[in-house]
Amino acid sequence: MTEEPRARPILRLKFPPAAKPAPEPAAAPAPKVIWRCKPCGSEVILPLTAEEGDIVRCPGCNANLGKAVHFLSDPPETSRLRARRGT
Ligand SMILES: [Zn+2]
Repeated sequence: MTEEPRARPILRLKFPPAAKPAPEPAAAPAPKVIWRCKPCGSEVILPLTAEEGDIVRCPGCNANLGKAVHFLSDPPETSRLRARRGT
């Protein structure tokens, strides 16, 4: 068993750490796209974690509104969706 001396590089910070991070403004919500379910009119917020193949369901009537990939495409393929763009 041989012990190789390992010279581990010491990482040094170029800049001194900031004293304190500035508090984030509370009123800065992430932009979200709101849709409306065609069958029942419920507000549908596309989950940010949606995968392309996920089926988006209405929280109100549980209708299958379409695949997330069609919501996420630009422009959205509304002809394949059972939801319309809300504001
Ligand atoms: Zn619905």
